[in-house]
Amino acid sequence: MAEEKSLNFLEEIIEADLATGKCPDGIQTRFPPEPNGYLHIGHASSIVLNFGLAKKYGGRCNLRFDDTNPSTEETEYVENIQQDIQWLGYQWDSRHFASDYFEQLFQFAQQLIRAGKAYVDDSSAEEIAATKGSLTEPGKESPYRNRSVEDNLKLFQAMRAGQFADGEKVLRAKVDMAHPNLLLRDPIMYRIKKAHHHRTGDTWCIYPMYDFAHGQSDSIEQVTHSICTLEFIHHRPLYDWFIEQLGIFPSHQYEFARRNLSYTVMSKRKLLQLVQEGHVAGWDDPRMPTISGMRRRGYPAAAIRQFCETVGIAKRENVVDLGLLEFCVREQLNKTANRYMMVLNPVKLIITNYPEGQTESLEAEYNPEDTHAGSRELPFSNTLWIEREDFMEAPPKKFFRLGPKLMVRLKHAYIIECTDFKKDAEGTVQEIYCRYIPESRSGSDTSGIHVKGTIHWLSAPHAQEADLRLYDRLFRVENPSDESGDFKEYLNPDSLHHSKAYIEPSLAAIPSGTTFQALRKGYFCADRDSQAGQPVFNSTVGLKDAWAKEQKKA
Ligand code: ATP
Ligand code: MG
Repeated sequence: MAEEKSLNFLEEIIEADLATGKCPDGIQTRFPPEPNGYLHIGHASSIVLNFGLAKKYGGRCNLRFDDTNPSTEETEYVENIQQDIQWLGYQWDSRHFASDYFEQLFQFAQQLIRAGKAYVDDSSAEEIAATKGSLTEPGKESPYRNRSVEDNLKLFQAMRAGQFADGEKVLRAKVDMAHPNLLLRDPIMYRIKKAHHHRTGDTWCIYPMYDFAHGQSDSIEQVTHSICTLEFIHHRPLYDWFIEQLGIFPSHQYEFARRNLSYTVMSKRKLLQLVQEGHVAGWDDPRMPTISGMRRRGYPAAAIRQFCETVGIAKRENVVDLGLLEFCVREQLNKTANRYMMVLNPVKLIITNYPEGQTESLEAEYNPEDTHAGSRELPFSNTLWIEREDFMEAPPKKFFRLGPKLMVRLKHAYIIECTDFKKDAEGTVQEIYCRYIPESRSGSDTSGIHVKGTIHWLSAPHAQEADLRLYDRLFRVENPSDESGDFKEYLNPDSLHHSKAYIEPSLAAIPSGTTFQALRKGYFCADRDSQAGQPVFNSTVGLKDAWAKEQKKA
């Protein structure tokens, strides 16, 4: 019986709010990405959380692009973010852009000016910083703090009309220059930035700061539970202050800890550097911790959701083991991925008692874990490729594969016995000779022979070729962001190897994006770079489960 999962702290808050009638129309959450890069696995946590809570409690979840910073945002990112969310299996109730609220936010700002709660400041950025004070000292009031409402309104409108240069003036909230929380010492609400915006073009030359956009946008959308990461905890009093002063819908902010993953970095700024400097092939390089990279690597969406749900939410930051994510990937793929045979390091094997030139077709099931997966035809002949490591000239006792006089089963085919082998001048095995037991065919075995090992193989005349991209972790150290110096010094120089393999014919035309299990070798995903007759496969994850083993030991 499944153990009942205890509620996390957000679920407890929501259940209490629903019980006390605080959300008569149900809960409303939102996922608010800034369109300045592709989504990564940390964002997936936030997506699973926000969409998941809305679903669990019969509420709604919006997608809101937090596009208040004109210089870093691009339409390309907007489109990819939407694609990633949908691929993860979620659909927003409605989609918004913070930039759609620019006019409303401007009106809100004027409302605060009229109430004597905001003023235009001519001080420079340096002067404002220098008068902020410190944790032990109060700040100094700006000489422009007590301008009249009329002057402030006129100046603010002139700012909007483009009459001043960047940095010449700002709009500040009039809170308290001695407030113990420095963020409340007359925070900046608007700055002048003569930059082109990806949606509003050149309509605006003043842009609201995060603190004067986020909470107000939440309120406009009647978000009941605005969930963000811990670094915003000190912003919460300001979030509440603006909403209270404006008397608008009372959204509330809640914080949870950022999710980090070992052997990678998780900030869009750093990921952008990897892309721009060519350390990876793009945002969706299969080594990237982005959703699109993981998709291209062959990770199923269900595995990413399972990972986020397993990790859950916390109030303290920590780094989650990459092994847990790989465990989830393996668990999902084991259930869904079709099995094929692929030989990575081939050596030739000849069956001396099987007629030369004869072929037969064997039936091979696609997935023993899924009876509906069906089966495929596998060609068999007297000349095969097997994995070089499956043969040993002088095998140790418990080697249940092939060696002189040893017997092994060929998967989906026959039992064979090694009778001889040939080496070249350097001593490398060149050909292996075997006899097969005709009565031992899989599915109709009447031979009565028992063998311990089964190996994969391919009929050499039927085998085709594939290009492999074998990936390893992107960084050499567990937490590159915590190391001294530039995080890029810790990149793993061996994170990508190119190689070739022989594959069975049915694998040659597999649609790109399909993940399969290469028997005994691991999971692979057909890349979009595949060409007709020349498939390209990305290594997804190995079969060995180091993480589960670690857990058992612990
Ligand atoms: P980055 O530092 O990677 O650019 P960000 O927080 O600036 O991240 P946003 O686009 O602003 O990125 O994030 C959208 C949402 O995703 C926010 O609510 C943010 O708190 C959340 N989020 C971002 N990174 C993580 C993470 N590592 N773990 C959990 N949630 C995250
Ligand atoms: Mg951000």
